[in-house]
Amino acid sequence: MSEIITIQNFGKSYGKIRAVEGLTLAINSGELFGLIGPDGAGKTTTMRTLCTLLPLEEGQMQLAGFEVRRDVAAIRSILGYMPQRFSLYPDLSVEQNLLFFADLFGVSAAEKKKRLPQLYHFSKLEPFKNRLAKQLSGGMKQKLALSCTLIHTPKILILDEPTTGVDPVSRREFWQILQQLRDDGVTILVSTPYMDEALLCNRVAFMHKGKVLALDDPRLITKHFPHTLYEVATPAPQLLVPYFKTAHACESVQIFGDRLHVSFAAPLADAMLKSVVQSAPQPVIEMRQIAPGIEDTFMALMKNRISPQP
Ligand code: ATP
Repeated sequence: MSEIITIQNFGKSYGKIRAVEGLTLAINSGELFGLIGPDGAGKTTTMRTLCTLLPLEEGQMQLAGFEVRRDVAAIRSILGYMPQRFSLYPDLSVEQNLLFFADLFGVSAAEKKKRLPQLYHFSKLEPFKNRLAKQLSGGMKQKLALSCTLIHTPKILILDEPTTGVDPVSRREFWQILQQLRDDGVTILVSTPYMDEALLCNRVAFMHKGKVLALDDPRLITKHFPHTLYEVATPAPQLLVPYFKTAHACESVQIFGDRLHVSFAAPLADAMLKSVVQSAPQPVIEMRQIAPGIEDTFMALMKNRISPQP
């Protein structure tokens, strides 16, 4: 598989704030690649620089063989970018928005005629084509924004948190569209704060404080979890957090729904496990070793600031 987006040693500062530090990444043609990380990790800065909207000051970036520093027009012609707050025209209808963006990108009349039905087909927006954009639901607005981004048939799609604040059903539909686009050969770089979405990517990079902490197939990324994880079932998880933090040499304690996830540097011997359960100040129904999930892994990597994996 050939690399279509390459980033070498990218760095960016805003005054004294170091937003991205020595980022090196290669994304393959036809890949659905996720950038995962908390607010302020440097995802938007990386994406906006790739899209030629921020100047590239440190490092190198290439898209489909074009240099970000030099080939601005060529890159913009093959790229679709959907920013966090994509500006639809609220007083234009769905179709008028699509036609507006088609004109903006210089899409010919013949191409428009072909493209609109395709975009309606996958977005399922045709029944709403005369509805004003401001009257669409959140999920429909995001689908229209994506359709506007796709109007000029870009080879590469860069999406910055496209489903943040969107309801779960619309999020699922949106990701079905992304997977369909990937299957049609579009390369997609998408950022998301949702771990369930990370699992739908071919590969993900965990970003934190401007650095990549781990990069892998999302189904394999849990191998980067550095400790041994236990799940604790207890009626009041929050009441046991201080116990694990102070009474035992645990590495981390997180509340996961109605359970606690507690990690230790190494597996606990049976006698030790029994003692941990018996001396707890609140009842422990069960404490058992479990395989870490993607969220456990990300939290652990953030806490430990583990260096980038090969
Ligand atoms: P978010 O999802 O919140 O946008 P992010 O991972 O996309 O987060 P960036 O927006 O790239 O991260 O921000 C990285 C760092 O750079 C943060 O500390 C942020 O406060 C800072 N930053 C971003 N843009 C600017 C700016 N224009 N001026 C100053 N600092 C900035």
